[in-house]
Amino acid sequence: MLGFDTWYHRQADDPLLASVASHEQRCLLTRDVGLLKRREVEEGYCVRSDKPHDQLREVSLRFALQPDSKPFTRCMECNGTLHSVPKEDVADLLPPHTRETKNEFSRCENCGKIFWRGSHHARMLGWIEDLANQSC
Ligand SMILES: [Zn+2]
Repeated sequence: MLGFDTWYHRQADDPLLASVASHEQRCLLTRDVGLLKRREVEEGYCVRSDKPHDQLREVSLRFALQPDSKPFTRCMECNGTLHSVPKEDVADLLPPHTRETKNEFSRCENCGKIFWRGSHHARMLGWIEDLANQSC
């Protein structure tokens, strides 16, 4: 959501998570202390909160992410880069209500998913504004 390069897979088990973190030199964020204790994990952080909004706030503060964030520039499904795309290029792929009411779209260069500013976007924008106010 903040535009940082991340990796996650719902079915990934602990060995895979630790391996990816190690091989790709990623910081492993988890609530599982046992996972952080695996030998190959070089950099990790145990997230205290179990609520997504609080987790975002906690991780953003811990790593001072806010100044470098580029909201909505990466696909939240696959981490691919998003590029704005003309409405006429994606109109046939949109739900009817979206086609009638929205005019700005972006598409993931990796998986092709199309994004627009709907209610989900508005809620996330509120979270991002909250981060900006918090870091002042
Ligand atoms: Zn994608």
